[in-house]
Amino acid sequence: MNFEFDADTEEMCAMVVAFAQRELAGRGEAASSTLDVGDFRRRWQLAGEQGLVGGAVPVDYGGSGLDAVASSAVMEALGYGSGDAGFAFSIAAHLFASLMPIVEFGTEEQKREWLPALCSGERIAAHGITEPEAGSDALNLRTRAVRKGDEYVLQGGKCFTTNAPVADVFVVQAATEPNGGFFGLTAFIVEAGTPGLSVGPVYDKVGLRGSPTSDVHFDGCVVPARQMLGAEGMGASVFSASMKWERVCLFAIYLGAMRRVLESTVGYAGDREQFGSPIGDFQAVSHRVVDMTLRLECARLLLYKAAWGLARGSQDEIAPALAKLAVSEAAVQLGLDAIQVRGGLGVVEGEAATFLRDALPSRVFSGTSEIQKNNIARALGLGKNRRPHRRH
Ligand SMILES: Cc1cc2nc3c(=O)[nH]c(=O)nc-3n(C[C@H](O)[C@H](O)[C@H](O)COP(=O)(O)OP(=O)(O)OC[C@H]3O[C@@H](n4cnc5c(N)ncnc54)[C@H](O)[C@@H]3O)c2cc1C
Repeated sequence: MNFEFDADTEEMCAMVVAFAQRELAGRGEAASSTLDVGDFRRRWQLAGEQGLVGGAVPVDYGGSGLDAVASSAVMEALGYGSGDAGFAFSIAAHLFASLMPIVEFGTEEQKREWLPALCSGERIAAHGITEPEAGSDALNLRTRAVRKGDEYVLQGGKCFTTNAPVADVFVVQAATEPNGGFFGLTAFIVEAGTPGLSVGPVYDKVGLRGSPTSDVHFDGCVVPARQMLGAEGMGASVFSASMKWERVCLFAIYLGAMRRVLESTVGYAGDREQFGSPIGDFQAVSHRVVDMTLRLECARLLLYKAAWGLARGSQDEIAPALAKLAVSEAAVQLGLDAIQVRGGLGVVEGEAATFLRDALPSRVFSGTSEIQKNNIARALGLGKNRRPHRRH
């Protein structure tokens, strides 16, 4: 086993940290519902020039051809260098939930048409499956796509769509066969500005405030059949594939952010004096910091193990779910611990408070912690909808 990155990956990560510290540090707080679209696009363009928004896309279509391990390393570096986990989250949602489905399920023509501008930073993508009545039960969505000749007509709406307020391209799921379950959904690439597509106001979220989120509405939105992604009825497969990328590589952002907050917490515990000595001398404090370290290192190992499997085409469902679960739960606990070590200063606006707010949504998006546990239990042969028991 080799726990080191290769020299190219190390070099790339150092560049990404420097870029993020220069362009993205301390930007998240002002964002949210007061989104400055011009500034967001300016930073997006810069991230594109760094190869960040299309890293995992093959070189032939404008990306850098990074595998899941290198992609995770880059995301970890982005999370470490950014004060704004929201902007990093927007990049990851664009890349892993929107571009990778086009890479894996798109025709050659679709890849050449859509991917280069989405990799260069010129255009931004969003992925929409969640609806008000279909969150964890995502396949039970109500947005319909009805075929009329060479076109589909979309009717319905999405909620919680990351990047929707700034997106040029949407990868959306709609029911081509209502109540058709796994084979009832179909994915489409829809361009912003298509008549019948509209976007709602930007949400005011508790965390990831630098990542704009809104509803998307489809009212008689006509999409050419050539913009269908994969075949009709393959939407759920497209979604599952994108979640595999997202549950691993996107969550590496949190590893980097955790490392940054842990380092500053160690620094604080060494500097802050009470009762005549640094608070880090008190075992209650130093053991808390050790627990933070332990959680980060355990989560990191699980994430890179899952990334390693993904890079080798593993179909294992447990590793990505464990990685997502471990990173998100570790992040929230690390945020709470970082605040506790800082005492009163922890609850004043600052790095620890921002990190905890950014960590909270991580237990919800890409499938909640409870849904990850359901998935793991099912893969183990337990729980509702369990697989048939294997008899020996
Ligand atoms: C910041 C953020 C960004 C997002 N970005 C996107 C995006 O870009 N595109 C997109 O399509 N969606 C996005 N989402 C939506 C996200 O995927 C959903 O919020 C998530 O799947 C949960 O759905 P829900 O909010 O409807 O909660 P619900 O499904 O209503 O769940 C509510 C609670 O019930 C629990 N629960 C539900 N069913 C079960 C069960 N069977 N067993 C045990 N517990 C259960 C859940 O775990 C949760 O605790 C985003 C969400 C957030 C917070």
